[in-house]
Amino acid sequence: MPYRNGQFFERPRQRMVATQLKPRGINDPRVLEAMASVPRHLFVDPPLVSRAYQDSALPIGEGQTISQPYMVARMTQLLELKGHEKVLEIGTGCGYQTAVLSRLCRRVYSIERIQSLHEKARRNLRQARHANVMLKCGDGLLGWPEYAPFDAILVTAGGFASDCWMEQLNVGGYLVMPEGQGSVHRLVRRKKRADGGFDEEYFEACTFVPLLQGVNHH
Ligand code: SAH
Repeated sequence: MPYRNGQFFERPRQRMVATQLKPRGINDPRVLEAMASVPRHLFVDPPLVSRAYQDSALPIGEGQTISQPYMVARMTQLLELKGHEKVLEIGTGCGYQTAVLSRLCRRVYSIERIQSLHEKARRNLRQARHANVMLKCGDGLLGWPEYAPFDAILVTAGGFASDCWMEQLNVGGYLVMPEGQGSVHRLVRRKKRADGGFDEEYFEACTFVPLLQGVNHH
């Protein structure tokens, strides 16, 4: 299928960067470069391919969504990745955010609680040729102790932070997540301090699918 080829959709992708990201304050050149190169159309289901670069979230099955391009870029930019980091992602979904992170750090460890989405992400990431990614089907609220500590943690489902995450974060590292009850969230960034505490900053309101406990074997 021709649209499966990465060289297609080059123009919609450049347009997405120019109209949805730059005017809204995405200015980290590495983040812009990653957003301009990851083939987002390879991460959505075939009937939605023509909408892959539009300014919105899209369904990916099991009631979940691939986040709006701006939100992916915004959260990634808040992590301030330089390239050497080990990053933990909670909520792999279709693997798109994982792919963006993988271009900006040393290795991404990503956890998804729904089995079928975990498998879909594995297929998508293989097709887009992302090698520095480790995926696991499990409950992200537990973190991934075998590979801790992480230099940064990104949560892509909305709710409240698990204590495990701050424990598994290196001093000086950032945790970014949509925090709040129900479907009303606000982006928060916490930086772990050497004394065990953290500094926090709040950013814009947003809406994410909920952070849920346990594994779903669908
Ligand atoms: N970053 C994803 C966004 C997916 S939506 C993308 O680019 O497609 C958020 C995902 O978080 C959903 O797939 C949901 O199943 C998952 N999720 C929710 N709670 C979770 C938990 N406790 N552990 C792991 N994944 C979780």
